[in-house]
Amino acid sequence: MKEEHHVNGTPIRLALVGIGKIARDQHIPAITANPAFDLVATVSPSSRVEGIQAFHDLPSLLAAGLDVQAVSLCTPPEVRTRIAREALDAGLHVMLEKPPAVALSQAQVLVADAAKAQRTLFATWHSREAGHVDAARAWLSGRNLKDVRIAWREDVRRWHPGQEWIFAAGGFGVFDPGINALSILTRIMPGAVAVERATLNIPENRESPIAASLAMRHACGAPISAEFDFLQTGPQTWEIAIETDNGSLLLRDGGSKMLIDGTAQTDHPDAEYPRLYARFAELVRDSAVDVDLAPLTLVADAFMVGRQQRVAPFEF
Ligand code: NAP
Repeated sequence: MKEEHHVNGTPIRLALVGIGKIARDQHIPAITANPAFDLVATVSPSSRVEGIQAFHDLPSLLAAGLDVQAVSLCTPPEVRTRIAREALDAGLHVMLEKPPAVALSQAQVLVADAAKAQRTLFATWHSREAGHVDAARAWLSGRNLKDVRIAWREDVRRWHPGQEWIFAAGGFGVFDPGINALSILTRIMPGAVAVERATLNIPENRESPIAASLAMRHACGAPISAEFDFLQTGPQTWEIAIETDNGSLLLRDGGSKMLIDGTAQTDHPDAEYPRLYARFAELVRDSAVDVDLAPLTLVADAFMVGRQQRVAPFEF
């Protein structure tokens, strides 16, 4: 397991950790379609994947002596840092689902661990790989921002059915999807973004917000607002509307659709997770680290400055 591996030409032997919704919906198809990876094991307390060797936890996998070079972690965020540290300690390259950790300080420790271990640590932000995000970034450069409005409203019962962890401390609540919007924002904005005020609506029987409003400001002075809501039934909204001195841009459906001055732009097929795994393979080749904590910083700041309001209890 600790032997130096040869990734040039031979697939990276990968274990997938946390076999839940996103592992099945996105990670397994993306890994299977990428010849740079060989999925050799899964690690999950009770779930498994037909035909793949399964372990209940990472220590069991490490003790089995299986030849594994990398892990991709799709667990709920609260347990992610501990598992990532175990993996780096064992000499494995690590890819992290978003958010990379439940606290900035935990993420920073991981970055230091990766440097010490000389292994890849890749903090993924899947929404940054949406079809129009790169084009939005290019369009914005050279324009002067006037106003940005984010609306990220979805039905938690539809997208996160029964995921009790999401409303626990460290589960992020509505910031679990909201951080995706902030990951796009911090990718496409040409300068820094600061949180000024926030309101967090926390159900009486829960620890994390079910709705949140953020007032932020771009380095140029332009206001940026964000409305996150977990109780939207009917049409779902994942939009970023940007006004500049030279036209307007609207990202819809999480960045998979884009309108410029009201005109729809040509869409690209969804390739968020294939792009993430292509990038992970590149990083592993050089044992490189790619960790951008800007989205997590905005969430942490929203929790720090946020005014908390208790709202009606929530049950799935
Ligand atoms: P999920 O359906 O609850 O799945 C998480 C899985 O992690 C569970 O099935 C559980 O496995 C496993 N797990 C829990 N503790 C573990 C541990 N200590 N070691 C190994 N595995 C453990 O959650 P999810 O929706 O897939 O979300 C997981 C992460 O992906 C979150 O950070 C989320 O933000 C991110 N994400 C989710 C989506 C989405 O649409 N759902 C999209 C993008 C990113 P068992 O079943 O074996 O108990």
